Amino acid sequence: MIIVMKPNYTPQQLEGVISSVKAHGLTPHITYGVETAIIAAVGEFHVTSLDPFEVLEGVESVKRISQPFKLGSRQAHPENSIFPIDGFTIGGNDIAIIAGPCSVESRSQILETAHAVREAGANALRGGVFKPRTSPYSFQGLGEEGLEYLAEAREQTGMPIVVEIMSQTQLDVMLKYVDVFQVGARNMQNFNLLRALGETRKTILLKRGLSATIEELLMSAEYLLAGGNKQVVLCERGIRTFETTTRNTTDINAIPVLKKLTHLPVILDPSHSTGHADYVAAIARAAIAAGADGLIVEVHPEPSKAVSDGKQSLKPEAFAEMVKQIKAIAKIMDRRVAPIKKPVTAGW
Ligand code: PEP
Ligand code: MN
Repeated sequence: MIIVMKPNYTPQQLEGVISSVKAHGLTPHITYGVETAIIAAVGEFHVTSLDPFEVLEGVESVKRISQPFKLGSRQAHPENSIFPIDGFTIGGNDIAIIAGPCSVESRSQILETAHAVREAGANALRGGVFKPRTSPYSFQGLGEEGLEYLAEAREQTGMPIVVEIMSQTQLDVMLKYVDVFQVGARNMQNFNLLRALGETRKTILLKRGLSATIEELLMSAEYLLAGGNKQVVLCERGIRTFETTTRNTTDINAIPVLKKLTHLPVILDPSHSTGHADYVAAIARAAIAAGADGLIVEVHPEPSKAVSDGKQSLKPEAFAEMVKQIKAIAKIMDRRVAPIKKPVTAGW
């Protein structure tokens, strides 16, 4: 942290700043200029807020030199975090594709979708069973019944399952079934939930909040990492802007920005970021070109009949076409879509 004194600072004010720096466990290194003085405060102690220094008398400005997200920052961990998710790895050279319906609606719907996305090249299956709906009167998800169907789909296709958790009360039942916990945009700052998930050793897919800054997303990831869970994947899923032609605005900048700031894998959800099936493949291609480590895409065998997010869901054929395009873009980027290792064991 760098503290710059006002031009007319007094020796007492400088003394006050030095004591405050020391009181925070930091060592002050002072450089005297012609009119001002600059204090570089260094040390192990992590300053989460600059306020205690900004309010001190005689202080002109305070600037952070290290990131407030300590464990997630590339400063602390320059190499990419690469970890396995049953059958593939994420964060390295391979691009991971997660696909499936917004919601698990029935046994046949999830099994049909699972086989279709697997055949098209997906690495993991998504499906919500506890849905964060804007209206309490909308379909809320099948709950444990949906988890049973997902487990059957995993059994048949070999794909790990990615499921959204909305509350700690769902943790016990979900731990029995789920490979990757998705924390949805609306829960990005549900700190109690993040702390509980930080205690688990399951992979967490953390989505960016609707109006969250990149730094806020990284601070939320910090809650998971601080609990000792190192398997955290970040997901850009579009943010709220003044634009209304799409459901959200894909913050494509977030991908290279996050890749620079953190060692954690970064993926994009082009379904929620656009809200329309017509734009999903284009934005998915852009994400890979921008350096994303993967995609999470909504696919439904009959989008017109989907109970949630049908408008943004790809039909299996469109998804297969998208995967082909992603493979081509990956090649240009000297990467590849993660290969499918496990054989499909059964039909349905
Ligand atoms: C979802 O993945 O279906 C979902 C609800 O996403 P988000 O939290 O990004 O809105
Ligand atoms: Mn959805």
